[in-house]
Amino acid sequence: MLSSVLSPGECAECRFCCSFRRQSLWETPLFDSETAEKLSALYPDARFKPRGGAYTIDIDGNYGTDDPEEEALCPFNRNGCILGAEDKPFDCSIWPLRVMRYNGGLAICLTPTCPVISQKPLEVMRELVNGETGDRIAGYARSHPFIIKEYKEGFPVLRIIS
Ligand code: SF4
Ligand code: SF4
Repeated sequence: MLSSVLSPGECAECRFCCSFRRQSLWETPLFDSETAEKLSALYPDARFKPRGGAYTIDIDGNYGTDDPEEEALCPFNRNGCILGAEDKPFDCSIWPLRVMRYNGGLAICLTPTCPVISQKPLEVMRELVNGETGDRIAGYARSHPFIIKEYKEGFPVLRIIS
């Protein structure tokens, strides 16, 4: 969905958003119950746990050290995401954009840690979310409220959607 600002080649070399430090576990991808059930059957090594009306990967036990900087990889990343478009979480397709509760409403915000997007002017991202891309994200969030997250300090607000 963000192909105008992110190329597949840039992401293939990075993988940052498919691995998680303990402090980033709030960001693990969310699956609806049907998809989680289907993927559990197809990939028995991938564990899921409920979160906020949906399911997310359970990688809490995948850390080998006490180092807070250690990253645990999403089980669906094997030299790139192995999930097809129908199973890939919407959240993954819009990262580093996030729908967050903000000032009593909802906003599309930018996760500031993507090394590619963080180099782009905020105006480029605002222009993107003020168009059809933002409309689609807002529509999905309204019909799938489990993707809505609490606002995090330091995340630029790109568009208020309600
Ligand atoms: S952090 Fe950014 S550049 Fe890296 S894989 Fe994720 S979206 Fe792509
Ligand atoms: S589901 Fe795919 S895109 Fe999403 S975090 Fe896992 S490997 Fe990355």
